[in-house]
Amino acid sequence: MNLLQKCSLAVLAFVLFQGCATQTTWYRGNTHAHTVICGHADSPPEVVTQWYHDHGYNFLILSEHNHFIHPDSVVMPENLRDDFILIPGEEISGPKTVHSTAMNIEKLVMPDKELEVKIHIIQNHVDITREADGKSILNHPNYRYAISESDVLPVRGINMFELYNGHPLVANSGDEDHISTEALWDNLLTQGMQIYGVSSDDAHYFDTIDSAHSNPGRGWVMVNASALSGDAITQAMYEGSFYASNGVMLNICSVKKGKYRVNVDVEQTLNELISPELRGKLVEATESGFKIEYIGAGGQVLASTNGSRADYPISRASHYIRPRISYYRDHPTGGSEAFFAWGQPVFTDERKLLE
Ligand SMILES: [Zn+2]
Ligand SMILES: [Zn+2]
Repeated sequence: MNLLQKCSLAVLAFVLFQGCATQTTWYRGNTHAHTVICGHADSPPEVVTQWYHDHGYNFLILSEHNHFIHPDSVVMPENLRDDFILIPGEEISGPKTVHSTAMNIEKLVMPDKELEVKIHIIQNHVDITREADGKSILNHPNYRYAISESDVLPVRGINMFELYNGHPLVANSGDEDHISTEALWDNLLTQGMQIYGVSSDDAHYFDTIDSAHSNPGRGWVMVNASALSGDAITQAMYEGSFYASNGVMLNICSVKKGKYRVNVDVEQTLNELISPELRGKLVEATESGFKIEYIGAGGQVLASTNGSRADYPISRASHYIRPRISYYRDHPTGGSEAFFAWGQPVFTDERKLLE
């Protein structure tokens, strides 16, 4: 082999290596689950872990109230897959019903329980999580309607919140006096915040499966990350490289060549929808099938397509654009039941995370 050939091989190897280095994979996870340790759930950490492992998840956070479950303390399933991990975390539970998931922390974090103003309480959660080398997810704003946009907007360093929480006591859709968490999201985004929407179970009950109990398998995230590790998953979510789901699964949900492209994984979605744990949103009778909407500033629907594929040129959006993918099916009540995937917003202005 002459020098030129050797150089060519070296270049080829470098290109291939670069190609491998940038490859990403979808990882399914739940950032919010409880165990008997909290005193109001029915299963030990091992049983909770086994449930997620056996249902094809790739990662789980055992997020106990002000209690840190170190992953090394949990006996993992006997038949452990090599693509399943526990990410260390905790649900910081402060006064005024302010809760947040401290994701990928290295130690127990305890909130300041003397604080009384919600902005300060949330800020305290974010700060102590950061000190423990983790990232914050603000949990269930519509649980007892504890958190409104004025509580969140001034907070520095928060860029994830629970858009969907599977606990039956959490009113994600709001009521006549309160806006939905999705409307809250658009309000925050429209006012310049960089904040991403998470979907989680907040599961407590693994023995009794019915609509009155907070069960597993109702809300999850699909994270597009370079590796399956606590650091890689957390960083990918922090950067908005994921979508939130309560039933709809996607193959593609990203911006390429100036277009925000969405491709539904139809087979996988229909497979998900036979799961007994799932709970759809009851809506007026609507034609069954998929709908893809692109939503921009003010929560305005900029485009809507019936079907499982769509794209939208981001240059047409002002400030931000995010896709919402719905699947409707008939419900025995005579109306329809809706399931969703929510893509993360892509920003067309100069906004940055308020540090
Ligand atoms: Zn909570
Ligand atoms: Zn919880």
